[in-house]
Amino acid sequence: MNAAAQNIAPSSEARSFLDRDHRLLIDGKWVPAASGEVTEIFDPATEQKLATAAAGGKEDIDRAVAAARKALRGEWSKLTSYDRTRLILKLADELEANIGLASEIETLDNGMPRMVAHYSIASFGCDFLRYYAGWATKISGETIPVSPQGVRNGESLTYTRREPIGVVGAIIPWNAPLIMATLKLGPALAAGCTVVLKPAELTPLAALFLGDLVKRVGFPDGVINIVTGYGETAGAALAAHPDVDKIAFTGSTEVGKKIIAASIGNLKRVTLELGGKSPMVVFPDADLDKVIPGVTRGAFFLNGQNCMAGTRLFVHGDIFDTVVERVAQMASQFRIGHGLSPDSDLGPLISGEQRERVMGYVEAGRKSGAELVCGGDVLPGRGFFMKPTLFSKTTMDMSIAREEIFGPVLCVQAFSDSDLQAVANEANRSIYGLSGSVWTRDISVAHRMAAMIDAGQVSINCHAAVDPAIPFGGNRQSGWGREFGREGLDAYLKTKATTVIY
Ligand code: ADP
Repeated sequence: MNAAAQNIAPSSEARSFLDRDHRLLIDGKWVPAASGEVTEIFDPATEQKLATAAAGGKEDIDRAVAAARKALRGEWSKLTSYDRTRLILKLADELEANIGLASEIETLDNGMPRMVAHYSIASFGCDFLRYYAGWATKISGETIPVSPQGVRNGESLTYTRREPIGVVGAIIPWNAPLIMATLKLGPALAAGCTVVLKPAELTPLAALFLGDLVKRVGFPDGVINIVTGYGETAGAALAAHPDVDKIAFTGSTEVGKKIIAASIGNLKRVTLELGGKSPMVVFPDADLDKVIPGVTRGAFFLNGQNCMAGTRLFVHGDIFDTVVERVAQMASQFRIGHGLSPDSDLGPLISGEQRERVMGYVEAGRKSGAELVCGGDVLPGRGFFMKPTLFSKTTMDMSIAREEIFGPVLCVQAFSDSDLQAVANEANRSIYGLSGSVWTRDISVAHRMAAMIDAGQVSINCHAAVDPAIPFGGNRQSGWGREFGREGLDAYLKTKATTVIY
């Protein structure tokens, strides 16, 4: 493993971005927060201050929502769907042309290895935008051949129009800041909505970087507004705002419930992409050379700070010891260090508070009688680094197996039952239902098990196979609605039925 704290200096290009007076993007202009307040942003790998950003509050949200409302009725509404496609494609091209700087900023702000930032921005930044750019010209309604109110056949016509839902408040988390912003912008813009984006207080830089690109591309003023600030102030004001038509939220289940409560005032639409505790189920005939890297990465990708993380590994008793040993070996070999070092496989956790929370779970796991196979420690020195941790012989009554930790902690549990439903029942013993994976060469076991897992998406012989075109979202307390694909677009549209009687 690498030494945890490495003093890697940002490039001069990144430095000059970081040193700017970061403001809010409202109605096409960079403006300070009405209160004049700011937040300090830190590099989680060095704990050093990176930048200062405006801390927007209710007044700023009011201004941004007013700008978004005005833009919804203005020039933006007169553009053709081809114009929207062109603008979204231009944004994707700008992002791609600047991917080096974008990934460096993402790494400095969030801590993730730069290669991961680069790859995720290419696929879930640029290609995601391109996917939705294509949808703008394919939004259409239906004609419905009925004869309402007793008119004779052929004497009436009913058709539906799919209209933009209106002003969208997008509230996003810190675990993949840039792509979270594009995941919300892509379908909202394709549908013709306008947006107020509220990035996480810990990681506002990627959204601000995107704000520069938005201005350069030439979206009409007010179509995309960015208000950085805290959740309890800016986020809460956006969620409760009476002139916001929809909130698209990604974050914790706890905050998701607050969003629902705040949305009641004007019954705004809400889509929620929340937490998970996703199972990975390995049958004895599975190809272990694929299983080991697949489940290890499934658990520790982004240090487990990702809602799809496979944090509960169910392994058939016949191969249990081998799988535990090999996963622990691979996890222990991950190189941990600053995300800008090309030698780092894993970066730091997002904050000291988050690492303490995760270590609290590790302590609870030790006390509960689970067997600590590897990890369980922080790395000494600066930066919020921690070793990937594997607990074996866990049971579903332990908090480490039940609760979302959002850190690099994997729980492994054996199964021996030949009754597939019993295995699925154990995998489904969670308040969450976001993701899951099945590992076997037996296609009937694979598909039967995939059908029994109660989750928004299940992968077979891989984990968390996501793509802009594949619907993504959770069951139970993992969320409401789906993002990505056609369903992801539908969430930003409303239907109007029009009937004419001749
Ligand atoms: P995470 O732990 O992944 O950051 P959170 O749910 O805490 O998830 O935060 C996700 C987003 O929700 C962030 O942008 C945060 O500022 C925002 N947020 C936090 N609390 C609230 C709230 N009460 N109302 C609206 N947004 C909030």
